Amino acid sequence: MNLKLIFLGPPGAGKGTLADMFEERKGWKHLSTGDLLREEIKKKSELGLKAKEYMDKGLLVPDELVVELLKNHLDASKGFILDGFPRNLRQAQILEEERIEVDLAINFKVSAETIISRLSGRRICSRCGRIYHLINIPPKKEGICDECGGPLYQREDDKEEVIRKRLEVYEKEIAEVLKFYKERNKLKEISAEGQAEEIYKRIEKVIVDYGQERENTG
Ligand SMILES: [Zn+2]
Repeated sequence: MNLKLIFLGPPGAGKGTLADMFEERKGWKHLSTGDLLREEIKKKSELGLKAKEYMDKGLLVPDELVVELLKNHLDASKGFILDGFPRNLRQAQILEEERIEVDLAINFKVSAETIISRLSGRRICSRCGRIYHLINIPPKKEGICDECGGPLYQREDDKEEVIRKRLEVYEKEIAEVLKFYKERNKLKEISAEGQAEEIYKRIEKVIVDYGQERENTG
């Protein structure tokens, strides 16, 4: 079964890590809009240059541009996981308008305290963007990416006050997105507390239940 999923949750909920695990084990493509944008900018593609113009002015990249970017990388026949999109109601509406169908939106529920403790241990590969955690998913060699050998770094905005502010903004915007998918019977919630492997099992259960539901309704 190739599913089309959206992972919703605050920064630090573990969406990226889990999406990577599903990509590895099920082959569903992990599409992080942040990573895709950085890739396009690096390649200096037409889309990347357009996006960079906005970012250089300190503006948000327009939703339409982000959706265009997603479409370039989407292969619905193989399944995918959207990570970091949609972030607000308008973006959810655009996905629907563009007929980018999704099976389920999975909401990662997690406490602010857990998020803060997780983010302070987070390290990111500066070459391929892979995410590690000093405790949960440590690299084999300290400070070095297992995948590509690139150096790992800690993001500036993984600091407590910044995290709390980001959470506030997130909660406000995501409420409408949750409502949007709930109304369409696509919203599932999971606890994102604990280790990545435990969270993986919870999501897997949601997916199995969904598969059975789908079979039963034909
Ligand atoms: Zn790497």
